Amino acid sequence: MDGPSYPQCSSKGCRADATWQLLWNNPKLHTPDYRKTWLACEDHRTTLGQFLDVRGFLREVTPFGAASDAPIS
Ligand SMILES: [Zn+2]
Repeated sequence: MDGPSYPQCSSKGCRADATWQLLWNNPKLHTPDYRKTWLACEDHRTTLGQFLDVRGFLREVTPFGAASDAPIS
């Protein structure tokens, strides 16, 4: 089964459009500057973020998909 061609939330079973991306790094597996990316909908930004944060993996959470008309600062 092929994955969807448009970005969806990475939370298991969730098919909502992704609006956030969570950038994370597992120091045991990854070099320090490597970033894994999980996509999250509005509802799962917090739960996925907490999952990563309690493990010390979470590095950054940024808006996803709205970059075209959002100023980059
Ligand atoms: Zn979701």
